[in-house]
Amino acid sequence: MTAPAQPQAVLEIGLTGGIGSGKSTVALLLIERGAVLVDADAIVRQLQAPGQAVYQSMVDRWGTKILDQHGAINRPALAEIVFNDQEELTALNDLVHPAVRKEMAAQRAEYASGKDPIILDIPLLVESGHDDLAHVLVVDVDPEIAVERLMKHRGFSEEDARNRVASQASREERKEKAGFIIDNSGDQSSLAQQVDAAWEWILSLDS
Ligand code: ATP
Repeated sequence: MTAPAQPQAVLEIGLTGGIGSGKSTVALLLIERGAVLVDADAIVRQLQAPGQAVYQSMVDRWGTKILDQHGAINRPALAEIVFNDQEELTALNDLVHPAVRKEMAAQRAEYASGKDPIILDIPLLVESGHDDLAHVLVVDVDPEIAVERLMKHRGFSEEDARNRVASQASREERKEKAGFIIDNSGDQSSLAQQVDAAWEWILSLDS
């Protein structure tokens, strides 16, 4: 008698890359191909919305100077504080990360009953551990191109863009963790082709 087949666990793939590398663009293209997305940045924004516990802890620590005129977190003001002082950055991470992990776990559990591969878009995947993820997809781009795109599409000053790129893990550190690497130094159609190849890779994986 053959044993009943075990239900196969749904695939989970970590998606990461440096700031401005193209993670969000890749995530959207993967959704078009059938993936579902858990987006760490979106969760951070949701948890930092006025009225949330994380928001309150941040205001308790830094006061109203991190708020805009509507009472929402003023991201450039916060960035000014934490990206110039490692201690403040650690304090922010300690306030935000546990809540983010909890919400990510809840979303992962919700999607785990489905069949679609789950993409976990985690900008700081390499910096913050996440060793529970067996499969990692890295979006790689020359930092000069990332700086250029951040200035052109996101309104960053050159200095800000360079500081943000420099504060993150290096390309090499990220690539060491990668099961698959997308090179996003070309145009959008080259990116779409590489996402097709990444999707084939995902479908070939064992959960
Ligand atoms: P962040 O780290 O800030 O969240 P990200 O890694 O999610 O950024 P995207 O937002 O996907 O990066 O891309 C950054 C910018 O570059 C966007 O405006 C996007 O439209 C643009 N972009 C991404 N890939 C390409 C490409 N191949 N050619 C031209 N522009 C691109």
